[in-house]
Amino acid sequence: MPVNGLGAYDDSNVFAKILRGAIPCRKVFENEWVLAFHDINPQAPVHVLVIPKGKYVSLADFTAAASEAEIAGFFRAVGALANELGLEAAGYRVLANMGPDAGQEVPHFHVHLFAGHNLGPMLT
Ligand code: IMP
Repeated sequence: MPVNGLGAYDDSNVFAKILRGAIPCRKVFENEWVLAFHDINPQAPVHVLVIPKGKYVSLADFTAAASEAEIAGFFRAVGALANELGLEAAGYRVLANMGPDAGQEVPHFHVHLFAGHNLGPMLT
């Protein structure tokens, strides 16, 4: 049982479909742990989503149930991607929504990578 209070993982979510190739994505990066692709509705000039390949609804699920290698692989990939996209100098924002209060739309754990202009202050 997941530890997120959001229910069990649902294989019909859109990121599960992308992972199994049932729908396309604009891929940015892939390795054994993660898939990164452009958000379909970008909120900044650079808006990339990074998702683990394992089935986790939330950060709490991910950090409780994933192996050390998966967790390290995921966060290393986010950092390496920011570096490889040349975002370190000007800066970027990493954000993850969890559950209804954060407006999580897709119940497969993911982080957003925003960059490419001044992102302004965090709203909350
Ligand atoms: P959340 O609110 O943190 O769950 O964000 C989900 C994100 O997934 C949103 O920014 C959507 O625009 C994005 N998204 C939904 N469907 C697709 C898709 O098929 N390809 C790429 N991004 C998607």
